[in-house]
Amino acid sequence: CGTRAARLGTEVRLVMESALTARDRVGVQDFVLLENYNSEAAFIENLRRRFRENLIYTYIGSVLVSVNPYKELEIYSKQQMERYRGVSFYEISPHIYALSDNTYRAMRTERKDQCILISGESGAGKTEASKKILLYYAVTCPTNDHMAILGDRLLQSNPVLEAFGNAKTLRNDNSSRFGKYMDVQFDFRGTPVGGHILNYLLEKSRVVHQNHGERNFHIFYQLLDGGDDDLLITLDLERNPQNYRYLVKGNCPRVSSISDKNNWKVVMKALPVIGFTEEEVQKLLNIIASVLHLGNTQFGEGEEGETYITTETQTSNLAKLLGVDGSALREALTHKKLTAKGEEMISPLNYEQAVSARDALAKAVYGRTFTWLVEKINQSLALKVTEFPLSWLLDIYGFEVLQQNSFEQFCINYCNEKLQQLFIELTLRSEQEEYETEGITWETVQYFDNKIICDLIEEKHKGIISILDEECLRPGETCDVSFLEKLEDTVGSHPHFITHKLANGKTRRVVSREEFRLLHYAGEVNYNVMCQSDNQILSHCFRREEVIDQKRPEMAATQFKNSLMKLMEILMSKEPSYVRCIKPNDAKQPGRFDEVLVRHQVKYLGLMENLRVRRAGFAYRRHFEAFLQRYKPLCPETWPNWHGRLVDGVSTLVNHLGYKAEEYKLGRSKIFIRFPKTLFTTEDALEA
Ligand code: ATP
Ligand code: MG
Repeated sequence: CGTRAARLGTEVRLVMESALTARDRVGVQDFVLLENYNSEAAFIENLRRRFRENLIYTYIGSVLVSVNPYKELEIYSKQQMERYRGVSFYEISPHIYALSDNTYRAMRTERKDQCILISGESGAGKTEASKKILLYYAVTCPTNDHMAILGDRLLQSNPVLEAFGNAKTLRNDNSSRFGKYMDVQFDFRGTPVGGHILNYLLEKSRVVHQNHGERNFHIFYQLLDGGDDDLLITLDLERNPQNYRYLVKGNCPRVSSISDKNNWKVVMKALPVIGFTEEEVQKLLNIIASVLHLGNTQFGEGEEGETYITTETQTSNLAKLLGVDGSALREALTHKKLTAKGEEMISPLNYEQAVSARDALAKAVYGRTFTWLVEKINQSLALKVTEFPLSWLLDIYGFEVLQQNSFEQFCINYCNEKLQQLFIELTLRSEQEEYETEGITWETVQYFDNKIICDLIEEKHKGIISILDEECLRPGETCDVSFLEKLEDTVGSHPHFITHKLANGKTRRVVSREEFRLLHYAGEVNYNVMCQSDNQILSHCFRREEVIDQKRPEMAATQFKNSLMKLMEILMSKEPSYVRCIKPNDAKQPGRFDEVLVRHQVKYLGLMENLRVRRAGFAYRRHFEAFLQRYKPLCPETWPNWHGRLVDGVSTLVNHLGYKAEEYKLGRSKIFIRFPKTLFTTEDALEA
């Protein structure tokens, strides 16, 4: 059945490309053609079979599912790009280029903004997918000399962003530690004319701390490994990363899959291309070096509890690199300024305070530098003409469940909950629109609507975010407990919310007293009560001194909610395409397909739900012309040519084949077939 279905998926290709290898036809290349579309086992088996043959891409309708091969495949060449140009989606094997090309053409012909949404867990291949899309546009779009520069800048901005925003984690040697949303604008000729990058949630805590086996941002190691001797002398740096406190926490200075030296060269070449002057590059490196020096700044404690700096030379060099006055820097690291009743007072910091002030400074310096870097890139990509924007939303974190889930996971999972809602809504909308255009009656689709969970989180005054905001504004240290109580009072009876308390007064084991559990569409997650979380965003955003006596500031959760709402609005106004990335194993190895791991992701990505919605009506639809072309040999009246109206030709053909009325519908330009079985039988007849 799999082979038959695959043949169907390649029908036009068989006409156009006779040199196809049999390998290309393993399993079904579109999940909607799975006979048992409700079976997760069948879904995973299809993925596995294709993965074994290096067929990493499979569709669910127009959604592209991609499995990380963890090895270089020969499918991204320029010749491959040519194969996919101007070819419609199902004519040729699934590919990220097919999706890129279709999006591009839809933008040009329908003149509607497009967006490509790439999701998946860490290491699943999101960034790689986004780079392949960029490359496809850079190579295939029409261009001129001026615009070629822009294309180059777009491509070159990637290694720079990765050097400063990516790091080796346990899950991915090149993990993006920030979210990225990127717009590319095209003019009426389809030439890329401008771009814009929006970055959010850079994981600044990594600058001062890394877990075992993880590293700081790549740029530090690149500089130490790749920078020439003179440069290191100027920056007063030593080559060995182990000499820097901010680089030793993870005990992992080298990564076998990464050449810091080569990457350094790439970054240094890219910076001038995206418009950095020599002076700016120097300043940038000064800052990077200064973060390392800052990390090595040590403190001693005087007899009266006052703190002083024990690494004086370090501080002098640091001041030089930062271009600030040495004594002012010393003072800033060991004292704090308070304003009381309009008067400024300077008071000394104790040891712990000084250490945390130093780390806070390092994080702030790095964070702002990153923002500045993105701004510089944006200037170099700045839009020249405002026409036909095509937007890509890239690198959206996938649903995440860690051992300890705090505010960060809450935000990420809420984001995914919203994206799932949007996905279902838009899929249903486009299905409905297609039915309307084709004049076919709409049939209600049964699906799980996750609006109930979104409401639980975001509803005004009653949702978790509102309660979190209020609780974090309350003075006192016990806000975590009162937060949980408030949650229980307000949303305790919600079917998707659970705490340790059972209705009969007993205690539930699976949720501790400091947690609450949410039943997300993708699975259950326990969250720590968040006000006292050590999470960076939260502890930063909820610093009490910032809150006291001030007008109510916008809280982190609400801020996140609002930016998410804006994002949803943007996405709603565009034509979305989806790439769903799957990580096949945790060992980052080629050829290994860990079924348990994949099943988790199929669930978290909501792929079965996607499939159900796509399959709700008809498994297969095809333009009359393509359908007739393929099956006309099966009917004497349509063979060798049908001269009447296409719809009558198709009608004659299916009557001859004995299709029953409930098996298909004829629209204005397409035939819709409800079950794959009908189609497989027809295919078999063709074969016979
Ligand atoms: P994160 O959320 O941590 O940023 P990610 O989803 O962006 O993860 P990538 O960095 O894109 O993950 O991919 C991880 C690694 O997997 C890459 O460095 C590369 O080695 C490999 N990889 C991903 N996609 C492909 C592909 N299509 N072909 C070959 N290798 C790939
Ligand atoms: Mg990434």
